[in-house]
Amino acid sequence: MNTQTIETISEKEIQQLVENQRKYFNSNATLSSEFRIEQLKKFKALLLKHEDEMHQAIYNDFSKSKYENQLVEFYPLIDEIEVAIKNVKKWMKRKSVKTNFLNFPGKSYIVPEPLGVSLVIGAWNLPYNLSLTPLVGSMAAGNTTILKPSELPVETSAIMAKIINENFDPNYMKVVEGGIPETTALLNQRFDKIFFTGSPTVGKIVNKAAAENLTNVTLELGGKNPSIFTKDSDLKMSVKRMIWARFVNSGQFCITADYALVHKDIKDEFLKLAVKEIEKNNFSVEHDNYVQIINERNFDRVVGLIDQDKVYYGGTYNREKRIIDPTILNNVTLDDAVMQEEIFGPVLPVIEYETLDQAFEIIKSFEKPLAAYLFSNSSSEKDRFLSEIPFGNGAINDCVMQISNPNIPFGGVGNSGMGRYHGKYSFECFSNFKGILDKPTSLETNLKYYGYSEKRMKIMQKLS
Ligand code: NAD
Repeated sequence: MNTQTIETISEKEIQQLVENQRKYFNSNATLSSEFRIEQLKKFKALLLKHEDEMHQAIYNDFSKSKYENQLVEFYPLIDEIEVAIKNVKKWMKRKSVKTNFLNFPGKSYIVPEPLGVSLVIGAWNLPYNLSLTPLVGSMAAGNTTILKPSELPVETSAIMAKIINENFDPNYMKVVEGGIPETTALLNQRFDKIFFTGSPTVGKIVNKAAAENLTNVTLELGGKNPSIFTKDSDLKMSVKRMIWARFVNSGQFCITADYALVHKDIKDEFLKLAVKEIEKNNFSVEHDNYVQIINERNFDRVVGLIDQDKVYYGGTYNREKRIIDPTILNNVTLDDAVMQEEIFGPVLPVIEYETLDQAFEIIKSFEKPLAAYLFSNSSSEKDRFLSEIPFGNGAINDCVMQISNPNIPFGGVGNSGMGRYHGKYSFECFSNFKGILDKPTSLETNLKYYGYSEKRMKIMQKLS
């Protein structure tokens, strides 16, 4: 257990910090592409310099191995920075749009501008990625930023604070560590953007606070993500891909498949293949690639969702080590405890279905999920999945890998969130787009001025 304590900050200091950041933003220091690129390059160099310490910190927090950290957090983050460095000039450019006849001889265009002072609040499960990727978007868009990482992985939060607070002007970006009191104090301030990753319950608190100042808000939340396996799937490959994605990070992954809907004719085969894949991946406490449950509270919550009568595989755990072995529950029904909340742990409930309509009905009985997955090679099933099931992002014949493509916008819908980020969507997420009509003064059509007539109105209607 980690005993590291965090540097505390008072509400007054937080208020001063926000004021200072607003002053700095209003000085226009963050506006030029040169400044943004320079800061992004500096940030990337610092992360690379401290890479080993970052791996060690997350290992100390919940035994996440270096390789898993590199794969799921560190490299995707470095990629995001590189994409931003390469493209920020292009993203910042004015974009021309068509001008209608009524506004002849004007030009029309869209001007991106930063929103101002941003607050980024991170979650614990991918603590680097979910705190620093939005920060990169905020930097690329030319904002100043206060980052509040999750307080649960203590060392991870501390290393992010060290890297940023020792190397950047706090008026430009600053990490404020802490839990509910510090987040509440931050939410009492007026920001121009709030970007939150976490649970729908806290998302509502954040949204209410944002509404107080009509602050632009992005909410990256969670939910029960379905995965559907049909008779038309390539079952062996499908199970291989899904099982890795389901148990990586010990299932503490917002876009993993929360449960599997499996056609009754292929369920036995599915279960056998799933066990084989779990064993091949060697998800076990003895191995370097099995992550601890973040804390005892979550450990007890996830263990409480395991109905021992329904255990097909696993079902064992060690509270002292905060490890839950990969677990498959069979013959699960919607009334089971495991189907009442997002699992966020290494437990996979399997529910059988007979028709795709039944599977879709089950999915629609829950709130709109953050992610959804279909394993099928049938184009009609793919079409139905894409058009009939609402969800934030997803994949066909894969699971979670959509997150690794910066060209795919990442975000939820309804109860699983609002707004999108990654790649250029991060830039857009932290920007305002001014719509401009720009007219020379040399020419004017006098149609709109007083002295209206039927004839003029008809001409105007045609030209507009
Ligand atoms: P959480 O909502 O408990 O905490 C998120 C952040 O909010 C933390 O920084 C925390 O300090 C702060 N917080 C907690 N309670 C608060 C309160 N009462 N008032 C103000 N701030 C508060 O979420 P978590 O446990 O860190 O993460 C798990 C949840 O996040 C799951 O639902 C998961 O699906 C979701 N999630 C979503 C994404 C995504 O990208 N959409 C990514 C990871 C996790």
